[in-house]
Order: sequence, then structure tokens, then C-alpha cells
Amino acid sequence: MMTVHFTCKQCGSGIHVYPDLEATRIQCDVCKHEQPVKFDQNHMNSILKDCPGCGRKDFYSQKDFNRQIGVALFIVAAIISTIMLYVGLGPEWYLSTFIVLYALDFFLFRRLNVVAICYKCDTIFRNVKNINEIHGFNHEMHDRIVYSDHNFEGKPLDHH
Ligand SMILES: [Zn+2]
Ligand SMILES: [Zn+2]
Repeated sequence: MMTVHFTCKQCGSGIHVYPDLEATRIQCDVCKHEQPVKFDQNHMNSILKDCPGCGRKDFYSQKDFNRQIGVALFIVAAIISTIMLYVGLGPEWYLSTFIVLYALDFFLFRRLNVVAICYKCDTIFRNVKNINEIHGFNHEMHDRIVYSDHNFEGKPLDHH
């Protein structure tokens, strides 16, 4: 299911939620600030058309920063293997460490590595089914949305 990572408008903390048709407000765990949300049936089906935080339709896609966890896993695997080698365990032990960590990396992180982000309110969406319809970051769109409050209504910027 799609997960939604809001940013608290008061203190900037992350607020992590699943879409919920019943929810009308979310509360920040850190500062207890509440802000309105509006989920629809698309969100329940992991389809992103409207932002539940600000109602806009302008999003960009980006590689998830969690990719770095994958790199960290390999460093851990290398350390474990070195220790195993040092204490005299056979190659089947340290090879299987790599395989397990590689599988973990692949299933947990690589599959989820593209996220959609709302230009207007910076809400991050993971596990979005229609992620292929969402274009990469566009500086001009970003500046016009953030500084001029322009609304593109979900249409990518025409460069001609
Ligand atoms: Zn807060
Ligand atoms: Zn938004």
C-alpha cells in the first residue's frame, strides 16, 4: 500500500501515515500540531492524482534516499565476512551473508526506490502504482509553484 510522509508545517518533523478515508486531520508526534488531510479512493488504491496535504496535482518523481541503506548493508556484509574469514569459518558462511543481505536490499529497498513528491507541500509518497506517469524534478515548475504559487493542475510543463 502507498505510504504518505507529510512534513509538519510547524516544526518540520516527518508524519508517516497510510491513506485512510476516515482521516481528516493528522497530528505531529513531536509538537502535536494538527493539519488537515483529504484521502480519496485513488489513494486507497495506491494511485496518486491529488495531494492529500494541499489538494494540488503537481508531483515529481525521485530516487528514494533509502538507497543508501543498500550501500550500508554491503559494508556490513563485508565486515561480517572479514570477521568470519578471520575466525576461520568456511567460504559458504560469508558467501551466504552476502546473498542474504543482497536479497534484503533487493526486496526491501531497490523495489521501492522511486518516490513521488508534491512540489507544493513536500509530501513524499512511496509505493505509488502510477509512478511512471510522474515526471522527474523540473526546476521551472518548482520555482513557479513555490515562489509564484502557480498551479499546473497536474500537467507537465510544455517547453515549446
Ligand atoms: Zn510538528
Ligand atoms: Zn501537496
